[in-house]
Amino acid sequence: MFEDIPVDVSPMYEGERIRSANMFVELAGPKSIGAELVQVKDNVEDGKIEVKGLELADMKEGEIYPLGILIEIQGEKLERELEGVIERRTHELCNYVKGFMHLNQRDQIWCRVSKEAIEAGFKLEHLAKALSILFREEFPIIEAISITILTDKVDVEVFLENAKSLYEERDSRARELSDEDVDVFYGCVMCQSFAPSHVCVVTPDRTALCGAINWFDCRAAAKMDPEGPIFEIEKGKILDEVKGEYENVNVVVADRSQGTFDRVYLHSVFEYPHTSCGCFEAVAFHIPELDGIGIVDRDFKGETPLGLPFSAMAGQCSGGKQVEGFTGLSLEYMRSPKFLQADGGYERVVWLPKEIKDELADYIPADLIEKIPTEEDVNSIKEIRIFLEEKEHPILERLKVSTEEIEEDEKSVKSSEIEEIETVEDSISTVAYVPEMTLPTSRGIKITLKNAKIYAEKVIIKRE
Ligand code: SF4
Ligand SMILES: [Zn+2]
Repeated sequence: MFEDIPVDVSPMYEGERIRSANMFVELAGPKSIGAELVQVKDNVEDGKIEVKGLELADMKEGEIYPLGILIEIQGEKLERELEGVIERRTHELCNYVKGFMHLNQRDQIWCRVSKEAIEAGFKLEHLAKALSILFREEFPIIEAISITILTDKVDVEVFLENAKSLYEERDSRARELSDEDVDVFYGCVMCQSFAPSHVCVVTPDRTALCGAINWFDCRAAAKMDPEGPIFEIEKGKILDEVKGEYENVNVVVADRSQGTFDRVYLHSVFEYPHTSCGCFEAVAFHIPELDGIGIVDRDFKGETPLGLPFSAMAGQCSGGKQVEGFTGLSLEYMRSPKFLQADGGYERVVWLPKEIKDELADYIPADLIEKIPTEEDVNSIKEIRIFLEEKEHPILERLKVSTEEIEEDEKSVKSSEIEEIETVEDSISTVAYVPEMTLPTSRGIKITLKNAKIYAEKVIIKRE
């Protein structure tokens, strides 16, 4: 089937990573532009493959080029509502091709071609050919498919603009619907290939964290293939409307995560936040010093006020983990009135990259927008605090309360002159999540804990 393609094509190459040392060229990604788009059309010429712009053989080793992947499909049972879900499979299917690495989705794609693939004679034309076969195989309702790959900067720019307006069209549809308006949510386990315990719960208010799949897309996908990776979840009993906890969602998440998690709050970063796979558009993170929430997106190049860039932040919660204080999310979710509503929504946000703030300006409450600093206003937690005070950000009320509580606690400790405080959390284990920590030991041995979760029934705080 793949005889004309000089490299192997198989699901076994899905986890393949191409590091810069082994890379021939990079396509799209943060240092260039790119997008992928699936469109249902009439009169699609089946099997047509076209590469417009430079082929790999004409590219210079080590360089970065733009990339557009346009997939046009036709079929009697194909509806436009399926475009988003079919498009989302581009990631997985591209990765079946040995020597080609594809990350992310939509206009966030980031690809690399390995040196070995080039030596074997691999071309973009072969990628298109492989995709054309794989898509037909995966979706029997596709009766005709044509693939165009663009590498010329001007062509990709035009393509990107068009793709963005079509993404926006898809996303805006879901904005008209709320979680209360429906009886079913949807689950997606497409990312379990690399994040085995990850289950996305997609609701009208919570577009999937990859930003590429909304409730309508899921509805169409589940109808087309009820046994597929996207499935219906009856909402069942509401356990907490504000946090977004539903009895049946918990049951399904427990089942689909192989028992790894059995509770999820759809609208909070605390206690049981939504799990994060790795393709989230942004990460929401708790800043304990301010008891506020910061958000950083994939495109943000600098360091967050915690001193970590997006990649390090993403590393703390990706892989299908549920990490209190962190959650991966889509920018579209930040347009929802339910955006982290249990935590206070935008009233709790104390830092955002400037680009996101501008993009979401219409969705951030008008009285708050000037009170949320970006990297242009502040560089550290101390500076955020000064900014928040100057602008009278509502988080100050919360901070005041918690500071008063701490002072109260300190007073009571002093008055009773207790030297050792034992805190036993009523039968709940305290969980500390440690991304990396080195323990002091003797005799020159160093113990480093990486991504360790520490459970403690008792916490002892000793006064020095
Ligand atoms: S991020 Fe979620 S919705 Fe998107 S493909 Fe992965 S599992 Fe599905
Ligand atoms: Zn994912």
